[in-house]
Amino acid sequence: MPTCRHCSSTYSREQFIHGNGPNSQVCVRCGLEKGLITKDQATNMYDDSLRSSRLQAMARRYSVFMYIPLLWTLWIMVLSDVSPWGWYFLGLLVVLTLLAPVWFIYRGGQYSGDMARLTPAYERPKGH
Ligand SMILES: [Zn+2]
Repeated sequence: MPTCRHCSSTYSREQFIHGNGPNSQVCVRCGLEKGLITKDQATNMYDDSLRSSRLQAMARRYSVFMYIPLLWTLWIMVLSDVSPWGWYFLGLLVVLTLLAPVWFIYRGGQYSGDMARLTPAYERPKGH
């Protein structure tokens, strides 16, 4: 993956502007900020609805890693010394914690598909 000359960030090729000289190896955001392209040319600067859909897809993917520590904290604070429910929920939490990475990997393809669907079309210039 190429690196932007200005912000040193690494993005996929779709996030870079076309051209030689000052336009080479410049990401879309830096291209806009430095005035190398106009807003109309930056199809990858997503409109608001597209941006929120992408954020939702990402939140759905990563939220599981927020919920599991939360559930563990709740278990420690509330249920750890309630017998026998503490033990039942401990088992449930262990199973959930072990399943989370498996689920995360399993859903990876769906996530890539969603993101591809939510990415504007990009015509690849010759030579790339
Ligand atoms: Zn940049």
